[in-house]
Amino acid sequence: DCFVRKGKRGGAWCSRLRGYSCAGEREVLPLVTISCNFSRAAEGRPKLLSTSEVKTLFHEFGHALAGFLSRGPYPQVTGSFPRDMVELPSQLNEHWAWEPEVMKHYARDYKTGRPISDALIAKFKESENFLKGLYLTDFYATALLDLEWHTVLRPVEGCDVAAFERAFLKRYDFPEHTALRFRTTYYNHIFASSYPAQYYSYTWSAVLDTDAFAAFTGTGDIFDPETARRYRRHILTEAGYDEPMAQYVRFRGAVPDVKPLMRRYGLAE
Ligand SMILES: [Zn+2]
Repeated sequence: DCFVRKGKRGGAWCSRLRGYSCAGEREVLPLVTISCNFSRAAEGRPKLLSTSEVKTLFHEFGHALAGFLSRGPYPQVTGSFPRDMVELPSQLNEHWAWEPEVMKHYARDYKTGRPISDALIAKFKESENFLKGLYLTDFYATALLDLEWHTVLRPVEGCDVAAFERAFLKRYDFPEHTALRFRTTYYNHIFASSYPAQYYSYTWSAVLDTDAFAAFTGTGDIFDPETARRYRRHILTEAGYDEPMAQYVRFRGAVPDVKPLMRRYGLAE
């Protein structure tokens, strides 16, 4: 359900209408949907996806793969990912979206059919880390603010929220201009949604997805069938079978390394 329409919830998400189950001989396969809010094409023009829409589509498709491929006899653990890991399949899938080999396949001039040029791909890659430092500072300030609130141990009489935020930013020595992505009063994730003290988990998933993608690039083939087989089995199919880290190590052969993420952010060679 790709397109925006009146009355539809905003954002993008992947839902499982039916999970995998097998009772006796009868195997029931999962039913999974992807919903997005892509803008509609102008009258008489074809719909072209923006880069952020492409990213969203690859992202949700990663969640969908985990939903489709989950298998196992116990519904409660089949296809279940802990919060720390739930964005691994989705964020890992995004990596392929920006690989030149893949871009040349789907990013075509809609009039001539010609694939995207190397020059444009290079430009796109160069712009990836534009303002990254600012983004990361704002993100980590917000993630730490979440933990700060959730580690308040005693009720605070007449709590001054703005002063709490100021004291927090000062304590961590954040630059003065640091703009929290979510101020406390509209921090939906940690107060009204299922992320209390877990906003950091996006970064932990990023450690996992960059390290997991390095498993592919490390072989010299981003489609390496053997790595793909291990990923499919230990992560997509059997994620809930054991402790998440144990499943990850079965796929990767080691615990995740933070270096691939630092390289992606331009913070390491
Ligand atoms: Zn996601």
